[in-house]
Amino acid sequence: MKFIEGKQIYGIFERCKELVEAGYDVRQPDRENVSLLHWAAINNRLDLVKFYISKGAVVDQLGGDLNSTPLHWAIRQGHLPMVILLLQYGADPTLIDGEGFSSIHLAVLFQRMPIIAYLISKGQSVNMTDLNGQTPLMLSAHKVLGPEPTGFLLKFNPSLNVVDKIHQNTPLHWAVAAGNVNAVDKLLEAGSSLDIRNVKLFLLLMLSVTTMWAVGYILDFNSDSWLLKGSLLVTLFFLTSLFPSITAFLYFFYKTWATDPGFTKASEEEKKMNIITLAETGSLDFRTFCTSCLIRKPLRSLHCHVCNSCVARYDQHCLWTGRCIGFGNHHYYIFFLFFLSVVCDWIIYESFIYWSNHCATTFKEDGLWTYLNQIVACSPWVLYIFMLASFHFSWSTFLLINQLFQIAFLGLTSHEKTSLLKQSRHMKQTLSLRRTPYNLGFTQNLADFFRCGCFGLVKPCAVDWTSQYTMVFHPAKEKVLRSV
Ligand SMILES: [Zn+2]
Ligand SMILES: [Zn+2]
Repeated sequence: MKFIEGKQIYGIFERCKELVEAGYDVRQPDRENVSLLHWAAINNRLDLVKFYISKGAVVDQLGGDLNSTPLHWAIRQGHLPMVILLLQYGADPTLIDGEGFSSIHLAVLFQRMPIIAYLISKGQSVNMTDLNGQTPLMLSAHKVLGPEPTGFLLKFNPSLNVVDKIHQNTPLHWAVAAGNVNAVDKLLEAGSSLDIRNVKLFLLLMLSVTTMWAVGYILDFNSDSWLLKGSLLVTLFFLTSLFPSITAFLYFFYKTWATDPGFTKASEEEKKMNIITLAETGSLDFRTFCTSCLIRKPLRSLHCHVCNSCVARYDQHCLWTGRCIGFGNHHYYIFFLFFLSVVCDWIIYESFIYWSNHCATTFKEDGLWTYLNQIVACSPWVLYIFMLASFHFSWSTFLLINQLFQIAFLGLTSHEKTSLLKQSRHMKQTLSLRRTPYNLGFTQNLADFFRCGCFGLVKPCAVDWTSQYTMVFHPAKEKVLRSV
């Protein structure tokens, strides 16, 4: 037995054991200067690695054309369990291979996101430099075209202004030099904070509301003075007669906007601990792990790219409130839609009353064309408010009915309904939206959604969707909820 080719014996644990027990030196490299540990690492053979190390294999043995360690090989292949095992045996992730890359740099180059997350969580500095003085962020911006892993690395707060030793370039310089447009975007974005964006959005909304009113005012500015007065009186009338509805509408708008929809929160330390625990228990699954928030996604949650956070029991990112609708504020959103419909409905009704009292025309006597001309001449401001109210009435009523149907009859969110409908297009059988584990029947669905019971007949099931990761046992219906 002169040489053991790792490739030849791959997979035959007993045979490897026999040969080693018979006296073969586990440190002996093959003709390509590759050790047994390298072959076991590249093939993710945890049992063989444990065995070889127990027999004296050197965990950081250099080998192969690039003078790499077994850890480098495992990283290139993206074997997270092997990386965890080798680190447990004391492998040094700071060692640099023949191309000048350390472990984290290799993980970046090969876009092994779970390994990047694990290495950083285990204490590897996100700003460590390779032989060229490049940080992982510079390497990513320079060598890996596309938004990832640049975007992913930015979650770990790397230094944005540090420069490399040779070219004195920042990560942004490298991204520009490589024409990596997506990375440039991500790096430029990295400074803006969520709170500032929300304040901007609110100001924008206020500005648009003010503009709408101003447009109406300007439209009416050149009209006769009695019309101006009349319009102002009508406005006053609207406001006073609709005061409770308007107050409720504004209140629920504010509550929808201001209440946390269920953003996931975790400190940097908690995130790192979480990554280590998930990786070491074999559950670092990127289908259930959010690579933007660096947290395990709760059941029914989704990452909102506008809010840049995962949102519990995600429904939608609402255009009208500029906020996500999720577990925390969904019920306020329903009330907001309801009172918006009521307010718009009243404005439409009062506009007709105004025209019948103040315009010397009727639809029956003059016909449609004259009637329209007359009401435009009568008060452009009222017409403008009428059109605005009709527009908002149509979408808010449509959404309200649609939302109530989904909540009461399906027990689903808008997002879940849409993704189920998308899935059903690829299925041979028709998919019933009513037969999901979240549908617990009309009354129970409503009780759960509004979190209130009905004189003891129905009790809401208190599921905290911000921290629910697995199926839920439902005491009321003895049903098991599963992910859809
Ligand atoms: Zn997320
Ligand atoms: Zn959002």
